[in-house]
Amino acid sequence: MGDQLVRFDLDSTVTAYLGTSQGDADRCSCQGCRNFALQRNAIYPDGFREILGRLGVDWHKEGEAVHYGPKASGHLYGGWFYFTGELIEKGESCIRSGEEFQYWIGTSFPRPPDVFRRPVVAVEFLAVLPWSLGEAYDPKAGRQMSKAKEIIRRYSGALEKLAKPSS
Ligand SMILES: [Zn+2]
Repeated sequence: MGDQLVRFDLDSTVTAYLGTSQGDADRCSCQGCRNFALQRNAIYPDGFREILGRLGVDWHKEGEAVHYGPKASGHLYGGWFYFTGELIEKGESCIRSGEEFQYWIGTSFPRPPDVFRRPVVAVEFLAVLPWSLGEAYDPKAGRQMSKAKEIIRRYSGALEKLAKPSS
């Protein structure tokens, strides 16, 4: 991918996604995640989806999506799609698809769910998305939620279940 070379286990990754019920943004009720989930089907460039497909990734089920906040005329998001494999050549470039979308293979990310057989790497992306929710963006709510999410992430497992908003 670009100047990056990766070894991957297609079958293992396909199996992992079959065992995953939904994308990360579907599990969270904060504004940032809901804005992401609303647009998920429209934001990914064709080339990006094609690469994910070749790796065995179901692009409907992002492993993690993070709302970083307002940027330029939209909102900056980042996220990861996990897959079983190894990065052979780290490379130096990321692939840009216009100004608003870029991606690369990374080895630094939140802990992937156990359904992914190790070793795991991820396709990481950054995207600037419009605000499409029918409600105004509330920066305060966003900060509180992302802080909460960060804490939950550190104490995965039991706490994650307890702290999950019941919706
Ligand atoms: Zn959220």
